[in-house]
Amino acid sequence: MVIEKQPSCDDEFEPELLPVEIALQRIASQIVPLSDGSDIEFLPLRQSLNRIVAIPVKSPIDVPAYTNSAMDGYAINSANLPESGEVTLSVIGTAWAGRPVKSEISHGQAVRIMTGGMMPHGTDTVVIQEHVQANLSGNDVASIVIDNSTSAGRNVRQAGEDIKSGEVIIEPGEQITPAHVGLIASLGIDTVAVFRRLKVAFFSTGDELRALEQHAGETLGPGELFDSNRHTLFAMLTRLGVELNDLGVVPDTADATRAALTKAAATSDVVISSGGVSAGQADFVSQTLAELGEVTFWKLAMRPGRPLACGKIGNAHFFGLPGNPVAVMVTFYEFVQPAIKRLMGCRNIEPLRFQVQSAVAIRKVPGRIEYQRGIVSTDSDGKQVVNTTGKQGAGRLTSMCMANCLIVLPVDSDGVKPGDMVEIQPFHGLV
Ligand code: AMP
Ligand code: MG
Repeated sequence: MVIEKQPSCDDEFEPELLPVEIALQRIASQIVPLSDGSDIEFLPLRQSLNRIVAIPVKSPIDVPAYTNSAMDGYAINSANLPESGEVTLSVIGTAWAGRPVKSEISHGQAVRIMTGGMMPHGTDTVVIQEHVQANLSGNDVASIVIDNSTSAGRNVRQAGEDIKSGEVIIEPGEQITPAHVGLIASLGIDTVAVFRRLKVAFFSTGDELRALEQHAGETLGPGELFDSNRHTLFAMLTRLGVELNDLGVVPDTADATRAALTKAAATSDVVISSGGVSAGQADFVSQTLAELGEVTFWKLAMRPGRPLACGKIGNAHFFGLPGNPVAVMVTFYEFVQPAIKRLMGCRNIEPLRFQVQSAVAIRKVPGRIEYQRGIVSTDSDGKQVVNTTGKQGAGRLTSMCMANCLIVLPVDSDGVKPGDMVEIQPFHGLV
């Protein structure tokens, strides 16, 4: 007898597998970002860190607010610069940062000035202190000798040179970083309009799962395992700055799945589950979703993470992730995170990717995009190279812990030789 085999996760190529790019486009096309007035809140500056700007931040002032010196030196009027030879100017005072010289400067005079000091009336140029000969009277500089090596207007920061009053300095959709916080403070602004936090509910499915809340440290029975996906999801979602609603572990029954989905969708913008989306008899997520809302169940041309259920229940977006712990993380970062960011009103969603040399051979057959766990590092020649973390099983969370990047191998790739360039997606951004 010959067993007629059905398509499975083990197959490299199945014609009906949906390419990842198409799945991403379809998800993006369903998302309407927050934009309403009711979705906007006004926060004290420090609390706005990581939030998404909803209303343009405009500068109420010129930056710098006044014309000032970029160096320690002497403020002069450029009319005093000699065409050749040297001239002597009398020094009539000192402009410290925050303590301007108020008097008008006449021809033949100069003012000693510190970096950031306000340029006195009648001056337009700073000759740096290293380029003058200073004549002292006691401890004070009475006069300076300058030559023509400084050009008119040098070493001066003009008022409004960085930012003009009324200029938009942060566009809606920008995520507030520490640099933005400082920039906004520099304008004298202490309140920022940001989009509200999204509400995200999440749960695990599986009769085999033991929740830490009740069973931490216990001896597992045969076939049981500790629920880790819910905790990974908690951590990934916390980094995204959403409001969380943890619905626990849901047993593999249609009733329990229906109840969890109904409750989650009623109060959330996004609902995420893990497990129960394959075609197994204990996989209730996709079929329950079909009863309650619009569902698309995809078999994706990717590894890890072939099955993914996507859709809407009422106004809530739903993502049914696979059960395998690494697949949960990869599908979250590739599909759910961009969707959540888009929904949050965020503009910069494209993940950072770049090419580095692979230090090792990587086995792969064409048919699916693969996200292997990698470690990018600098080799002894100072060149960036990537290694894999070793065994790439979809259940091995240790591979995600060791990795600092995903190695993204395209659908058609038939493997990598040492020295080949590969695309990586780093885990960490700089700011
Ligand atoms: P499923 O798609 O529900 O068949 O799950 C696929 C695999 O992932 C099974 O080996 C599950 O035991 C495992 N798994 C599912 N959910 C979790 C979870 N929440 N934590 C850890 N492993 C899980
Ligand atoms: Mg399951």
